[in-house]
Amino acid sequence: MAPSEQPTQFRYPSASFLIPLPRIMEVTLVLLGIAQDGGVPHAGCSCVRCMAAHRDPSLRRHPVACGIRGSDGSLHLVEASRSLPDQMWLWAEAMGAEGVARPDSVSLTHIHLGHIDGLGQFGNEVMGCSELPLFASASVLEELAKREMLGPFEATEAVPMERFSPSVNCGFEMEFVPVPHRDEHADTHAVIIRGPSHSVLFLPDHDDWAQTLNRHGANSIRQWLSDLDVDIALLDGSFWDSSELPNRDMSEVPHPTVTETLARLGERVEGDVEIHFIHLNHSNPLLGQGPEVEELTDLGWQVSAQGQQFTL
Ligand SMILES: [Zn+2]
Ligand SMILES: [Zn+2]
Repeated sequence: MAPSEQPTQFRYPSASFLIPLPRIMEVTLVLLGIAQDGGVPHAGCSCVRCMAAHRDPSLRRHPVACGIRGSDGSLHLVEASRSLPDQMWLWAEAMGAEGVARPDSVSLTHIHLGHIDGLGQFGNEVMGCSELPLFASASVLEELAKREMLGPFEATEAVPMERFSPSVNCGFEMEFVPVPHRDEHADTHAVIIRGPSHSVLFLPDHDDWAQTLNRHGANSIRQWLSDLDVDIALLDGSFWDSSELPNRDMSEVPHPTVTETLARLGERVEGDVEIHFIHLNHSNPLLGQGPEVEELTDLGWQVSAQGQQFTL
């Protein structure tokens, strides 16, 4: 160094330079349950599958629910089942968290048992939440108010039938899509979760394809899913076929059977969405390892798995 040259004076970076930027995470959806409202084992049932699940906890399956972690780390639950404590731990484990965090919002598709029987756990007897944002349709909120179940929740406006963000910086949007489903007390919706790269349709319950497609002016499942602009569809797969409940009138629990859905879909072709069947009744052979699973996967479709993750 020549004597005339002075070393450049070192400057500390300004304080604002030192503040770490918020960490942007991938928007991730975890399937917190894949069973119908009654779960597996089903109350009062001694079928082979339920008895095996009583004896071996690894065979138990929670009622359907989704946990979505936003890009800002916020947590958003869709459906509140009675398996909530186990589902919150499953969610934490899937996200690599050491402890269990409370969700920042809850959304509900409809008011049938398995979708709401965990709501009470947000109240005084358990988590003691207050003003937790709750997103559901106007008729669902009205019915929950009648049942005095809204205590822990913010008196949320009914969700608009357009895209909304469940919190300010979560990095994804949700959209409620009306579907027909023996709406005795309140109506039913499917939910679309739209992330930066992928969109998922969560459709746990509806009565039948003809009514659903008719309501949305689509002439096929493919056309409807394309109109909804989703890449992944989690579809109502409650029953494999109509012979499944020999002691029940299947018209009391209407759902399109998986065999009907497969007949309508045929084989998966290039460009088709990914379809995973959810909301499986304890009687559904898709919960086992039998030929039905092979039939479905040979066509290119999938049976969902509890704890399965989707990057949105
Ligand atoms: Zn259900
Ligand atoms: Zn059973």
